[in-house]
Amino acid sequence: MSRIAYVNGSYCDLIRAYTHVEDRGYQFADGVYEVFAVIDKHIIDYDGHIERLYRSLGELKMKSPINKKSYIFHIRNIIKKNYLHNGTIYLQITRGVASRDFKFPKNSKESLVIIAKNLPLDYFSQQFDRGINVKLVKDLRWKRVDIKTLNLLPPVLAKQLAYENNCEEAWLVDDEGYITEGSSSNAWILCKRQLITRPISNSILNGITRKSLIKALDKINIKLVEKKFNIHDIKKADEAFITSATQLVTPVIKIDNFKIGSGQIGPMSRKFRNAYMEAVQLS
Ligand code: PMP
Repeated sequence: MSRIAYVNGSYCDLIRAYTHVEDRGYQFADGVYEVFAVIDKHIIDYDGHIERLYRSLGELKMKSPINKKSYIFHIRNIIKKNYLHNGTIYLQITRGVASRDFKFPKNSKESLVIIAKNLPLDYFSQQFDRGINVKLVKDLRWKRVDIKTLNLLPPVLAKQLAYENNCEEAWLVDDEGYITEGSSSNAWILCKRQLITRPISNSILNGITRKSLIKALDKINIKLVEKKFNIHDIKKADEAFITSATQLVTPVIKIDNFKIGSGQIGPMSRKFRNAYMEAVQLS
């Protein structure tokens, strides 16, 4: 079965889905993206991801190539055409094709690509049941990581270093020794019934899963504290986990050489995940 992509107004086989060599995404990482989880054919947290997409476009002074209401239509088409039951949708917009020049081109049109990835039916439940290891890596990213741009070389290198050290995720450490976030997730620790995560600023991505989990915490007797945390706090943590569209709420059982809590998936992480899954928006 061939995979189908949406590329600038038409649907085509993924193997024929080409972009131009002078696309500014290819040459300058001049573009933005979103990743949506699809569970049982439902798009997870659709509104939040689309709002963030528009914010990212605005921050880069780019226009949306299609009107806002059309996104859901094309995403649903891609879900159907790829027989997606569980998986992810990757949506990317670049400033378009133009002769290579750093300045914004005057007449280019933004390019839009939407592709799907099928994942096994038990993929999302397995994410939770595994518990992952995390490696601490220096945060080498630029100062506007609140914008979801294609500029992903530092997280690529951080994640690779994590994998080479038998870890599934890297937590990035700023110049003062505080954790910013994961290479592709937000980072959380639970210390004595305080759930701690870094506050929103230009130095982290405002995760849509993070936002939905915070809303869902109403139902759990826990104090959310949005503050910076470092390795000393990690050593005292009872539990830790990451959030992202593709990993939902995934427990962390080891960070560098430190076992978190008992080194097993903690009971509160399970509660957070269940609360998130119950409250999440399905489209
Ligand atoms: N931070 C970074 C750096 C990310 O790449 C991601 C994943 N897109 C997240 C946080 C989590 O964001 P979301 O919950 O919207 O997937």
